[in-house]
Amino acid sequence: MDLNLSPAEEAFAQELRSWLQRNLPPQWRESRLRALSEDEAAAICMQWQKKLGDGGWLGLAWPREYGGRGATMMEQVIFMLETHRADAPPTVDRAGLRLLGPTLMELGTPDQKQRFLGPLIRGEVVWCQGFSETDAGSDLANLRTRAVLQGDHYIVNGHKIWSSNAHYASWCMLLARTNPDVPKHKGITMLAVEMNSPGVTRRPIRQISGITGGPHGFNEIFFDNVSVPRENVIGGVDNGWQVGMKAITYERGLFTMLVQIQFETVWQELRDFARTTRRGGRALIDSAVVRERLAQSYSDIRLMRLSNLRYITRYMRGMRPGEESSLMKLHWTATDQRLYDLAMALGGPASLVMPKGARALYEGTWISDYFHSRASSIYGGTQDIQRNLIAERMYGLPR
Ligand SMILES: Cc1cc2nc3c(=O)[nH]c(=O)nc-3n(C[C@H](O)[C@H](O)[C@H](O)COP(=O)(O)OP(=O)(O)OC[C@H]3O[C@@H](n4cnc5c(N)ncnc54)[C@H](O)[C@@H]3O)c2cc1C
Repeated sequence: MDLNLSPAEEAFAQELRSWLQRNLPPQWRESRLRALSEDEAAAICMQWQKKLGDGGWLGLAWPREYGGRGATMMEQVIFMLETHRADAPPTVDRAGLRLLGPTLMELGTPDQKQRFLGPLIRGEVVWCQGFSETDAGSDLANLRTRAVLQGDHYIVNGHKIWSSNAHYASWCMLLARTNPDVPKHKGITMLAVEMNSPGVTRRPIRQISGITGGPHGFNEIFFDNVSVPRENVIGGVDNGWQVGMKAITYERGLFTMLVQIQFETVWQELRDFARTTRRGGRALIDSAVVRERLAQSYSDIRLMRLSNLRYITRYMRGMRPGEESSLMKLHWTATDQRLYDLAMALGGPASLVMPKGARALYEGTWISDYFHSRASSIYGGTQDIQRNLIAERMYGLPR
């Protein structure tokens, strides 16, 4: 892949840099949000999301007919690099722009496109993903939340869990069982459910990292006789399995590129920390073990970058990536966990001080990201599920 920017890409990067300079107030920078409460930080992320929407920077890759820029993958990468460099905060919505938008463009009715895509691309709404249940995670088709048609409305009853950002969401893309009398993959339907409907209760789950809502937070959602108009069925009644799987394929996309950029920044912090911190009369970097682990992490991150570039190249040549995304997810998780294991080892006891605590290392980002790195072997399909996919679909091994 040619990493030099074309004149058009350079112009795009320049336009973005100057827009960021004019529009990102210093007090909104991501690194400044750490000092705030979760709700205060989420309020700023929401304002930033609207600003990006007004500036035409959301849904970059969406076609122009839906308000996007029809951006190339390279332009999306440029967007990630530049916003990361500018220390821009994240948007609150993720599921809407990444999963629902592309799914609706492909499978939504004209009315749904009209109702849902505009608010999404203008940054006005937050969607959450209501798929998982206590007995339906890896085996998602086992879900039990019921939606029963009564007149023009579905009546929904059930319970969802691990729903990221449901705390702040205005809408939920919900998978519910509409037909219990057919094989379990065949009786599921996706519904767009308004989160302030009577009968919807959200309960944030407090995590070990201290986070409840916010970009990494998740919730339980209870549905108690919630009425949902039948025109909110997305992609056809009893077709929810196919629709959900399609939505999930949009999930990873370029996200690993963003994560890799973040890992690079943390790796540099670790290296500088090892150079400047003395323990037992010598600098940490003087230890061969420390140097070896830093080198291992460095090569993990470089490998991640190269796999990303290969993914982008294939995509730009019109090839749709297949099970390599499972390989990328496996490697991403190993990289994530090794990196933060190293952070904890280098920091020693001080690495355990939580954010906002006196003497927290790097404002407590290492410890909270260490906890979050434990989740990376679960979300987006567990390590075991990725291995199954690789074994069965890449190598043709028996189930
Ligand atoms: C940070 C985070 C955010 C999330 N956000 C959302 C969200 O927004 N919306 C949502 O709906 N869900 C969300 N989830 C839930 C996530 O999709 C599930 O946790 C995941 O699918 C695993 O399901 P489970 O937790 O029920 O574990 P289980 O499926 O019960 O797995 C338990 C263990 O058994 C193993 N296992 C299961 N099946 C097999 C198999 N066939 N072969 C081999 N091993 C197997 C697993 O690898 C795992 O180790 C989120 C999870 C996390 C951690």
